[in-house]
Amino acid sequence: MSKVVLITGCSSGLGISLAVHAAQAGHRVYATMRNLSKRGAPDDAAKAARVTVNVSQLDVQDSASVAACVDEVIRAEGQVDVLINNAGAGFVRSTEQASEDDINWVMDVNFMGVVRCTKALIAQFRERRAGHVITISSAGRLVGQLFNEIYCAAKFAVEGYMEAMSSYISPHFGINFTVVEPGGIASDFAANVMNHVEETGGMLDDEYLPILQKYVSGAQERAAGGDIYQTADEVAAIVMECMASDGPPLRTRTSKWGEAFCALKTDLDPDGKKLQQHVVDTFLS
Ligand code: NAP
Repeated sequence: MSKVVLITGCSSGLGISLAVHAAQAGHRVYATMRNLSKRGAPDDAAKAARVTVNVSQLDVQDSASVAACVDEVIRAEGQVDVLINNAGAGFVRSTEQASEDDINWVMDVNFMGVVRCTKALIAQFRERRAGHVITISSAGRLVGQLFNEIYCAAKFAVEGYMEAMSSYISPHFGINFTVVEPGGIASDFAANVMNHVEETGGMLDDEYLPILQKYVSGAQERAAGGDIYQTADEVAAIVMECMASDGPPLRTRTSKWGEAFCALKTDLDPDGKKLQQHVVDTFLS
């Protein structure tokens, strides 16, 4: 069945792959981005794949922009069936080194951005007793990683937000929630993180420096040799499977590496369904 799919953060990386894969699956796709001057990349990808992708402006940090985009899509299509919260930004600095402005920005993009977009659509989903909120989280939502405490906190927050809503909104109003937890995706993401470090004073010369240097150089080696990184297309294919499923997972890793890395937290309940039922049984039975 063709669905109306609204995706955030489609100027690059996974967002572009999600838009193309969704269009290839026959869905009506609204690929959104905060800066429309970057629409060339998704336009080119859609053209190469011979699919139609509608491009719209949406800044997840701006409620008015979110509302305007949702209105535009609902005017055109009558409804949205699937929201994919994909927009996100990484951040590598210790708490001591991070400014409060940086911390607020990371939380705003990665957490509040998800809340703003979900809030803009959830009433419409409830009225129709249908809808699917898919949020691209990270293995960093399950396993806190060095110098990533602010980013991981934002992704942990997203997970709690989605998990809590799924516990009562899914069983009562038929809306699905899925959190996708990639390990690494080959995209501009890591380079953007390091650019941000450079733009905000570089690696500071303090007691953390040797640990940070070891982490960063190790990351480059791991990216070159290992199986941490997937292509955006591989992750997008898994998101499409979730979208097509009648009983989508509450959470899913996207690679063997991610599964193994998170296993200490996920082995007992890989897709989160047992936990979801446990919460329902505890509070609503
Ligand atoms: P990416 O290429 O850097 O894409 C991030 C996207 O988010 C870009 O389109 C960016 O737009 C957008 N964005 C940032 N701030 C925004 C805002 N305020 N409003 C709207 N869009 C905004 O990285 P990616 O790998 O595709 O990341 C996609 C998702 O995967 C993110 O949620 C990320 O946390 C998650 N993830 C990535 C990795 C990885 O290793 N790459 C691993 C696990 C999870 P601009 O071009 O305007 O900045």
